Amino acid sequence: MKSKLETAEDRVKELFKLAEQELRRGNLERTKRYINLARKIGMKCQYTFPKELKRKFCKKCNMLLIPKISCEIKLNKKTKTMDIKCFNCNNIRRYPYGE
Ligand SMILES: [Zn+2]
Repeated sequence: MKSKLETAEDRVKELFKLAEQELRRGNLERTKRYINLARKIGMKCQYTFPKELKRKFCKKCNMLLIPKISCEIKLNKKTKTMDIKCFNCNNIRRYPYGE
């Protein structure tokens, strides 16, 4: 038997996969719905998204972030950050280098 947390992890990962498929098909509303659902499951089951998943969506509009499709990644030498710009809502997130 899988634990609740493992089940949550499986579902979240599955939803990210589905979201990516929808994004590549151009179904932005569905993409956002899947991400929203994944976040809800995470919250409910107290499953913390691993770093690679945390950076894969926009916290503001729930868009899945895939470089050149739904976001732009720039290395900002001035602030020493990686800037990720969401094409859907134009929100910019900054992450320090080398993390
Ligand atoms: Zn966004």
